[in-house]
Amino acid sequence: MEGLSPAIVILGPGALATARRLQAGLPGSLVHGLTGRVEGDVSYSAFGDHLRDLYRQQRPLVVLCAAGIVIRTLAPLLDDKTAEPPVLAVAEDGSAVVPLLGGLAGANRLARQLSTLLDVAPAITTSGELRFGTCLLDPPVGYALADVDVAKHRVADLLAGEPVRIEGEAPWLDEVPLARDPAARQRILVSPLASTDDHTLLIHPRAVLVAVRADASAATVSERLARAGYAPGAMAGLLARAEDMTDLRLAALADALSLPLRFVNNTTPEFAGQAVMRAQGEGVALYLHPAPLEIDRLGQRRGRLSVVGLGPGAADLLAPVVRRALDQAQDVLGYATYVKMAGPLRPDQLTHASDNREELQRARHAFELAASGRQVVMVSSGDPGVFAMAAAVLEVLEGADDPRWAAVELEILPGITAAMASAALAGAPLGHDFCLISLSDNLKPWSVIEQRLRQAAAADLAMAFYNPISKARPHQLDRALDVLRSCRPALTPVILGRDVGRPGGGLEYTSLGALRSEMVDSRTLVILGSSHTRRFPRADGGEWVYTPRWYDTELL
Ligand code: SAH
Repeated sequence: MEGLSPAIVILGPGALATARRLQAGLPGSLVHGLTGRVEGDVSYSAFGDHLRDLYRQQRPLVVLCAAGIVIRTLAPLLDDKTAEPPVLAVAEDGSAVVPLLGGLAGANRLARQLSTLLDVAPAITTSGELRFGTCLLDPPVGYALADVDVAKHRVADLLAGEPVRIEGEAPWLDEVPLARDPAARQRILVSPLASTDDHTLLIHPRAVLVAVRADASAATVSERLARAGYAPGAMAGLLARAEDMTDLRLAALADALSLPLRFVNNTTPEFAGQAVMRAQGEGVALYLHPAPLEIDRLGQRRGRLSVVGLGPGAADLLAPVVRRALDQAQDVLGYATYVKMAGPLRPDQLTHASDNREELQRARHAFELAASGRQVVMVSSGDPGVFAMAAAVLEVLEGADDPRWAAVELEILPGITAAMASAALAGAPLGHDFCLISLSDNLKPWSVIEQRLRQAAAADLAMAFYNPISKARPHQLDRALDVLRSCRPALTPVILGRDVGRPGGGLEYTSLGALRSEMVDSRTLVILGSSHTRRFPRADGGEWVYTPRWYDTELL
């Protein structure tokens, strides 16, 4: 898909040098390395799952291993040809570049690019590409085939040697060895117009811009377009007035038409010098530009703020939807440690790292950036809704009087919270009813914490404690333990998850009676079992801890 940078996937150190050579020529690309075998920018632990995830995200794939491995890995996903991203196998030593899939998405173009970087010949097997040196079915950015199936037939005619005339501006075909003949029956037509004949390979330049008022409807846009004779595929995007940015009908309209939406200050768009107004009425005006339009140059997009959870730290515990938001971010905000954890980021992405305690200020900063049309990501560790930034962001939004903030496209993207990551390592200590409690009294009185601990204990819930201790609050955990020991037996299982999912992290098993606050620091999550929580040995010498799904009051 246009815009997504390729993932360079390697399995071992033998491929690293080639991977880095390719990366240097592919801006924004990252090297994905197998955990424990080779250090890339992103690490993964299961090759097949990771490759399929990237493929589903439509990410262009450059995989440095045998073509057969790539084919077998992706085979279960290969049913819809139009949805294929480019997939290429590259020999570890850089001696061969083999485009496997995604011919319509630029695989051959990428293969040529990689071959130039490695100074080898690409293994191009597409017949049209071999004959013409370019894929006629994959026009450059800014152009779209009117109809892929019809176009395939036309290319077959050209491959059979039929002469062709070219009408319209198609600079990328200048060097292509086609049998040109101004009188030919076959025609390649580059035009925004919808109508054509049986001998035409029709390519639309995305050159029609649709200026809309906030009350315009999708039906009116389609009707105006049809009346002017333009094809839907020729539309470059919607343009609206900046003062309408808060009007969500426009976002719905852009969604309905699957078009990008940009806002401009002046109702006479700045491109008017080159573009010509073609139709107007009912809040819709069509402009035709002489060449494809780069919509990003024209105006400002609606700002977006994604509040994301990074999970505990390991890259493979990060949700793909969060990875995508990070890829698209222009600004990344958060506590410095987490901004670092969100990386590697590209040099064009701005980071705004701040101190952990400045949450509300950070949230306001994020809205200011997003309200100016930027794509902003606010990072939290774990889940953003668990003692983290999502609530802070909503708190400032509710209290805001700037209507531009309300117009920001706000999304909260979940992550694996520390309690879940720790519990999974131990077994299933939270397998029955449980609660999550922060022991920090920064934002709530200590008396409330004590009362909740008593009530949770009385309800016989398993508990997970966040923020158990810190330099500024060294005594809280001991005070909490005093309360808990008065309500639960000393043998109740306790699990300490420290830096879970991060280098050097892991679990420690103890009990309520044996737990000492020196065993815990601010990067620890404490799980306390209920009366039903059990432990038994694992085959590897460790132990499993779980709370059964059933409950027997006689056990109390
Ligand atoms: N939003 C985070 C929690 C932030 S509160 C989440 O959902 O996980 C910070 C507390 O979370 C820390 O004091 C610690 O108790 C816990 N924590 C966060 N990351 C952790 C990790 N990787 N391992 C263990 N505990 C962690």
